[in-house]
Amino acid sequence: MHDDHRLVEARLERALQQRLRPALYGETVPLDIEVWHAPGEPVPVSEALAADFKPAALGDKWGPPWGTSWFRLTAQVPQEWDGRRVEAVIDLGFGGGPGFSAEGLAYTPDGDPIKGLNPDNIYLPISGLTAGGVSESEHAKAKGGTRFQVYLEAAANPTVIQEGFRPTNLGDKSTAGTDPMYEIRRAEIAVFHVDVWHLLRDVEVLSQLMEELPEDLPRRAEILRALERSLDALDYDDIPGSAGLAREQLAPVLSKPAYASAHQISAVGHAHIDSAWLWPLRETVRKVARTVSNVTTLAADNPDFRFAFSQAQQHAWMKEHHPKVWDRLKQAVEAGQIIPIGGMWVESDTNMPGGEALARQFVHGKRFFLDEYGIETEVVWLPDSFGYTAAMPQLVKLSGHKWFLTQKISWNQTNKFPHHTFWWEGIDGTRVFTHFPPADTYNGQLTGKELARAQRNYQDQGGGTWSLLPFGHGDGGGGPTREMLGRAERLADLESSPKVTIEHPADFFARAHDEYTKAPVWVGELYLELHRATYTSQAKTKQGNRRSEHLLREAELWSAAATVAGKLDYPYADLDRIWKAVLLNQFHDILPGSSIHWVHREAEETYARLAVELEAIIERAQAALAGAGDATVVFNAAPHDRNGVPALGAAVKSGSHAPAVTVERDGGSVVLGNGLVRVRIDERGLLSSVLEIESGREAIAPGAVGNLLQLHVDTPNVWDAWDVDPFYRNKVKDLTDVDSIEVVAESAEEVAVAVTRSFGSSTIVQTITLRAGECQVNIDNEIDWHEKEKFLKAAFPLDVRAAQSASETQFGHLFRPTHTNTSWEDAKFEICAHRWIHVGEPGYGHAVVNNSTYGHDVTRDVREDGGTTTTVRLSLLRAPRVPDPVTDQGLHRLSYALVPGAGIPEAVEEGYRINLPARTVTGAEGVAPLVEIDNPAVVVEAVKLADDQSGDVVVRLYEAHGNRATARLSTSFGLASVQETDLLERTLADREITDGGVSVALRPFQVLTLRLKRA
Ligand SMILES: [Zn+2]
Repeated sequence: MHDDHRLVEARLERALQQRLRPALYGETVPLDIEVWHAPGEPVPVSEALAADFKPAALGDKWGPPWGTSWFRLTAQVPQEWDGRRVEAVIDLGFGGGPGFSAEGLAYTPDGDPIKGLNPDNIYLPISGLTAGGVSESEHAKAKGGTRFQVYLEAAANPTVIQEGFRPTNLGDKSTAGTDPMYEIRRAEIAVFHVDVWHLLRDVEVLSQLMEELPEDLPRRAEILRALERSLDALDYDDIPGSAGLAREQLAPVLSKPAYASAHQISAVGHAHIDSAWLWPLRETVRKVARTVSNVTTLAADNPDFRFAFSQAQQHAWMKEHHPKVWDRLKQAVEAGQIIPIGGMWVESDTNMPGGEALARQFVHGKRFFLDEYGIETEVVWLPDSFGYTAAMPQLVKLSGHKWFLTQKISWNQTNKFPHHTFWWEGIDGTRVFTHFPPADTYNGQLTGKELARAQRNYQDQGGGTWSLLPFGHGDGGGGPTREMLGRAERLADLESSPKVTIEHPADFFARAHDEYTKAPVWVGELYLELHRATYTSQAKTKQGNRRSEHLLREAELWSAAATVAGKLDYPYADLDRIWKAVLLNQFHDILPGSSIHWVHREAEETYARLAVELEAIIERAQAALAGAGDATVVFNAAPHDRNGVPALGAAVKSGSHAPAVTVERDGGSVVLGNGLVRVRIDERGLLSSVLEIESGREAIAPGAVGNLLQLHVDTPNVWDAWDVDPFYRNKVKDLTDVDSIEVVAESAEEVAVAVTRSFGSSTIVQTITLRAGECQVNIDNEIDWHEKEKFLKAAFPLDVRAAQSASETQFGHLFRPTHTNTSWEDAKFEICAHRWIHVGEPGYGHAVVNNSTYGHDVTRDVREDGGTTTTVRLSLLRAPRVPDPVTDQGLHRLSYALVPGAGIPEAVEEGYRINLPARTVTGAEGVAPLVEIDNPAVVVEAVKLADDQSGDVVVRLYEAHGNRATARLSTSFGLASVQETDLLERTLADREITDGGVSVALRPFQVLTLRLKRA
């Protein structure tokens, strides 16, 4: 036979585009269009229904960026359409893809939501709320002569990410302009040809499968000939009338079953909805309403459809703002079609949230699903966050989850991750069964290409046979379409294709686990070799997170102490609300700094408001605890004693016995000393020497200077707010020019030297402080930052040969090599650390602690003298211009400190200290700690009252040094009983009380939650 496959394929392509797709709808009747342009922010549907609508027409412009227009669309169904399938078809002037362009939500005249509209979902059923599929059921059929009317809330959401990542002002309403962006292009009711719809799905599935098959496979030729016969059977003058005959030609090839060893795909309906990103939070609330309306409409017509819906916050938004959508959501959950998943409050970033905050993501997420639906979530679902902390497996388990899913690591720029199904082992040794969908997407469409990729790419062939594929429009929401379900039906058991089963993700995991219990193990973090600048961009959002986490710790601790002392009522409701606000801002485009200006402006406003509330809660509790008097009472919320004040307690201030701080001027230099450390600040304001007295070791490498500010040109190729590309290191300017150096404080207790520099359009004042009794050099920065596309780092070149750096993460720390032997280490040129980073030789090292910074890098160099310089740098500020063109502009205050001679225990302690400065209150007396621990390795991360409002005290502890540890926990109140619990404070085991306390033994980095019932 002569080979004509290209000819037939071209014929098919043209027939699809120009004949088949346009034939889906037949006769039409235009909808009468009326419009009301809402003047400001979105309004409730009740307000829109009562608005004054004006006549409008096709081609009319609507929608300045972020505006809302309500359309009232009306038509009479022709008598002769009685009993036929009829739909409304609407094009709002859609531009980009679903979720990135105009979007609509249709309502009945009674204000009941019907379904959403987006560029890939432009129809509305004309009768009832169902008819999301293509069934021939009665409710899908028109009644001739009836009047059809809908209200359509149309959101003029702009496409913010522009071609080539060009900066735009579209990301805030105040800068986005006022010109309408969209025009209404199509608004009609039309006869819907069910046979044509089915023929389209048949052809799609077979042609997409064919394109993925080898040209010499008989199956490919067989499909080609069937498609050709189908085209031959089609009458272009009567496509609806001949579609059935065309389908008959395809039936034999569609009915051949899959190979026995075909890869098997669990398809899970999904809509990844970024809780804020290229749109503000308020728009996400509407996106969720649109998506859930779509999904419940589809579910009503497709009983086997399953949809995984993560992020408790998004469910809670429906409960709060869209009660009718909420009702439908609850019904679909009850029917088992919508599956609450993920168990977190939002799909948070996991690199930066602190330990307690990450625990609370699970507590609040899981509890919402339990309280509202009675469902215990089992799958942690984080398809899109930018890398995954090695602390995660333990928290997954301790929150009662079994499985973990992501796919983001497929975005790695350098190394291909070797597994798709594996055991993931965290810092404490907990393992969790984990899956990466090999289709490499969380927005699947169930195309032939995706399925073929899933099968080809699946790294665990021969071990496992199943993979998962989330399908549905995502990022900006939208969710699955009936076309995707139509494909899934045909792909269930089709020769040469992977088999597709729509099912609950937990069913997939249980089966994948059972068939592959000896799956390979990956130890440590799932580092994303991309988006490394998300540890730094939008510094104020990050600082707001860090401050809020520590204020919450203090608020809970002192409120618990005051409540147990009978002096106060515990502010359960306030703390619950504040926690949820902080957790929301940890969403994976907010805390990472990758959202539009609107989002970060609001995040900063929220953090400022929460800080005021939390300060008031802390102040009230401390005042109650300290009582009336005129003594100075010092409160220490940190987990270690300091300056005579017990951990988690308070004491009346006593005089310091530490040697006084001294200051000498030596030429242009200033030399500070306190008996523990001697610091030389040279004539350029740089640390030319930091001598740790006890060991006699100089911390700063020979010939180098510490606290050196370095300014890099920072112009990533793409994803500006997300990415720093390795070539940023090629261009650097050391900021050594100094405007002034002044001693600004001089007492026995502390000496402070202010160093002022100007560079570019910016200035920085660094106050270098040495305090009595502290072996550390504190640096407080006030940076008036007006650079564009620059990266500011603070460098500490240290005279230490460190094979690895240790970075604090949630409930522990992790080590990363300082060399770049392999591509895996080389790719980690920017790393995340929480409150401290440590470098050292066995038995000796240094820590750098901070109160606002997450991004760091550590490099090493061997000098001519044979010694090794290990350089630790903090990533202070960036200035990307996409998606927020004014990222990080303005005044920043942040602090860090060099702790010479520090081991890991000192790093842990000083990391807490710089984030939890002591507070002084005027009062009568000190406060005994509610709980005391006799081993500094066992650290208290939270003290609070139980969420069930029983009055029980809940303490969360962890082992912080990376060793096994035993400790005694004693309390200032009588103990009736003690239980070990999960993160949700549900009992796991009873603990024995001995001598009025509890003994604990922890493995390295183990997290332990204890519920202490008061006698
Ligand atoms: Zn996302």
